[in-house]
Amino acid sequence: MSALLEVSGVTKSFEGFKAIDNLSFSVGEPELRAIIGPNGAGKTTFMDLVTGKTRPDSGSIRYGELSRDLTRMSEARIARAGIGRKFQKPTVFEDQTVAENLAMALAAPRAPFTVLTRRPPMGERTAEIADRVGLAARLDDRAAILSHGQKQWLEIGMLLAQEPRLLLVDEPAAGMTAAERERTTAMLKEAAKTRAVVVIEHDMEFVRRLDCRVTVLHEGRALAEGSLDHVCADSRVIDVYLGRPEAAGA
Ligand code: ADP
Ligand code: MG
Repeated sequence: MSALLEVSGVTKSFEGFKAIDNLSFSVGEPELRAIIGPNGAGKTTFMDLVTGKTRPDSGSIRYGELSRDLTRMSEARIARAGIGRKFQKPTVFEDQTVAENLAMALAAPRAPFTVLTRRPPMGERTAEIADRVGLAARLDDRAAILSHGQKQWLEIGMLLAQEPRLLLVDEPAAGMTAAERERTTAMLKEAAKTRAVVVIEHDMEFVRRLDCRVTVLHEGRALAEGSLDHVCADSRVIDVYLGRPEAAGA
């Protein structure tokens, strides 16, 4: 496992308040990583910085074997370089079917070489992705009639259609049923076999099931890192996070 993303000494202030404070963080390829931490810790801002939505005040964010500095790339170029992001709210095309949503994502290739390679027909590819995200039986249904959790899966499928090297997922379990949460962990674990996947999540049961390395963010810094058991035994983590209501099921 080599580092795919290397965040070094990144700081980002909003009107003098340091949302991210000299943060260093790296993730391998492949790797599944969970980020936990109290509200306002800077978790979403971290994803904004990696995807180019927000620019750091200082520090570097290097990516890939060429160690390209993402802080100098546009959001569109970062996406084309293979970084996909799932926001908290699902953003699928409600009036289109599951198959149509996936076909759109498949037809918008991020890599310039995809037109040159022979690929299976669109129908097969949409069916294959739908299967990966538990929607094989829903291909012809309009996205509007899916449950909240299924919409989240559809969006994950649309991101997987782009074959990202690094997938960032912000609080996928919120609003899901227990059964949906369980399937989501399986989906993310599977996706992380061949790429880097970084998941922000408050649901401790969910994080435990991910069974991966955990980074605890607090006041814009990495407070602790290691197995879930390791970070949960850290008294600082208990003080700032696990003893608080947002750490569901801790
Ligand atoms: P988390 O996702 O861990 O709950 P955020 O990254 O959303 O935390 O926010 C970290 C801090 O930065 C919060 O105090 C938030 O109010 C602040 N913040 C985030 N984005 C902005 C912004 N665009 N403008 C001003 N403050 C922001
Ligand atoms: Mg957030």
